[in-house]
Amino acid sequence: MAKKKSVDPLMDKIVSLCKRRGFVFQSSEIYGGLGSCWDYGPLGVELKNNIKRSWWEAMTHRRDDIEGVDAAILMHPDVWVASGHVEGFTDPLVDCKQCNHRFRADDLNADKCPDCGGELTMPRMFNLMFKTFMGPVEDESSVVYMRPETAQGIYVNFHNVLQPSRQKLPFGIAQIGKAFRNEITPGNFIFRTREFEQMEMQYFVRPDEDQKWFDYWKEQRWDWYLELGIKKEKLRWHEHGIDELAHYAKTAFDIEYEFSFGWKEIEGIHNRTDFDLSKHAEKSGKDMRYFDQEKNEKYLPYIIETSAGADRTTLVVLADAFHEEEVRGEQRTVLKFAPNIAPINAAVFPLVKKEGMPEVAEKIYHDLKKHYKVLYDDGGAVGRRYRRMDEAGTPYCITVDGQTLEDDTVTVRERDSMEQTRHKIAELVELIGERLK
Ligand code: ATP
Repeated sequence: MAKKKSVDPLMDKIVSLCKRRGFVFQSSEIYGGLGSCWDYGPLGVELKNNIKRSWWEAMTHRRDDIEGVDAAILMHPDVWVASGHVEGFTDPLVDCKQCNHRFRADDLNADKCPDCGGELTMPRMFNLMFKTFMGPVEDESSVVYMRPETAQGIYVNFHNVLQPSRQKLPFGIAQIGKAFRNEITPGNFIFRTREFEQMEMQYFVRPDEDQKWFDYWKEQRWDWYLELGIKKEKLRWHEHGIDELAHYAKTAFDIEYEFSFGWKEIEGIHNRTDFDLSKHAEKSGKDMRYFDQEKNEKYLPYIIETSAGADRTTLVVLADAFHEEEVRGEQRTVLKFAPNIAPINAAVFPLVKKEGMPEVAEKIYHDLKKHYKVLYDDGGAVGRRYRRMDEAGTPYCITVDGQTLEDDTVTVRERDSMEQTRHKIAELVELIGERLK
């Protein structure tokens, strides 16, 4: 079959840069790849880790009211019965009778195949959970699911976390972890994949205070994207209408980002009411209520959920940072990451590989390495090294030159403005630290 012509040149450029510079590769590439699974390379893993760290710091370390957990991916199958996923975590699937392509019926605007105009089958419901078997016997009784969301690992641990942490309402539980969905139409690189990471926080509140905390978390989550350096004009809110609301939600707002392929959800903020805790109480027979000492009353708290994807946020950060510019008649590609989430914080170069410059540069590199993620590079012309670092999104390049040997100063080149300023070697650790704040 002829390869379809790409209609998204910007995404093509991002995918190709990601491969060239070692951000993201196709999974099992030497075998032809595996549908919508991706591997993070040396720069990609640093970037994604920095995004996750930024989320974790904002959602746990900087606060007193949120605890962290790391629950298992495999959970008791009853969890997914109680949560409604076994029954209802489905998408309507249609096939084209002519070219056999598959689509989500709710993604289509017409009743014909968008690829060939062929006739479509009637929609049938398709459960998105991956199934596997626990133990040696592969029968119905040994079925377990790969979790399709991290949230349930938080709900079932509500009392386990509440007791040792001695938190009182309102308080939250945060988690970062893998989730799996057998998506019918994955795609757009790491936007929609079958294996991905979520960053979720569940905030337990008094039922009559749900609206107040919902509004609070909307504001907090919006501000986090601005903190990551995302352009404000590329973000917007989308409120779920009655027909869009998930079975558990009373109110839901998505934060959307304007990708080259349109405005798309990057995070959902949901008022899940007491749906989850009441379902788990019912199914497990355990009392999931909270004892409110002030009110001298037991009740099920309401839950405000903030649910973001680490991979999707990584794509937002890449797309937002991607720039092509003309500099003195030459094209430069640069990733303008916020300095504190850049995979490499600074690079150190000797201008030439002689006259003692490499020794001085190596010493600077080793000193900086104790504090930051730094790279040493002495290969090729310095201009080429700057370009490589522009494509890696490295905010600062430090160059040791002839003058360094005379007065212990180096040049520091700033990625976006390309301006170079001279600084004392002894001041570098502090200088980079200041700029990374
Ligand atoms: P969509 O409508 O795009 O399928 P959803 O409404 O099902 O998403 P949620 O269940 O609310 O998504 O998941 C919360 C977040 O998890 C999403 O905002 C997204 O960032 C991330 N996410 C969900 N599904 C995927 C996926 N298949 N690949 C990558 N990230 C995902």
